[in-house]
Amino acid sequence: MELKSITGEDLDEITRYYETYLNSGEKVRNAIKATFDAGIYYGCRAVSEGETAGYFSFQDGIALTCPHPDLEEELKKETTGLSVATVDAMMVTKDHRGRGIAGQMAAWNLEMLKKRGIEAFAVEIWVYPDGSCPARRIYEKMGKVIWKREIPMFYKDAHRYGISCPICGQNCKCGAVMEIIRVTKNEGVL
Ligand SMILES: [Zn+2]
Repeated sequence: MELKSITGEDLDEITRYYETYLNSGEKVRNAIKATFDAGIYYGCRAVSEGETAGYFSFQDGIALTCPHPDLEEELKKETTGLSVATVDAMMVTKDHRGRGIAGQMAAWNLEMLKKRGIEAFAVEIWVYPDGSCPARRIYEKMGKVIWKREIPMFYKDAHRYGISCPICGQNCKCGAVMEIIRVTKNEGVL
């Protein structure tokens, strides 16, 4: 398994993976391309035997999947004075799960965030309708949680923005845990 920086050549594949594992809609592609072209989209790709096993990406600033103006304001207030990024996506393909790939990508990204001078990141963690929240422990190992909020039915309006859920379809009942994680220089070792 090898970890590589995401490049422009990965955009088609990231979009395809997004549509399979996260949310779909034409907005997804345009949003990724715009932030990549602006130089504020970055992260890593895990490659196993020539095949992509996963992606874990960030973008600069506070950016949520669909608009939540009050929450965005609050996140900006909580991170005032800090150089901040937001997790864009973390996904491991079905065939490659259970091998610790997410943890390895997290360790790689933690070093990258430090090099870029990112001091904290926001993350919108997906909570499935059954209440499970599998990605949470990966993020929480990357630093110290300095703010969090659980938000049931977080994606209920997502269909209005052309975003559908891979589990629920149009009427998404999934929730989210929003967290701000402080990246400290010598902590967060996985
Ligand atoms: Zn859902």
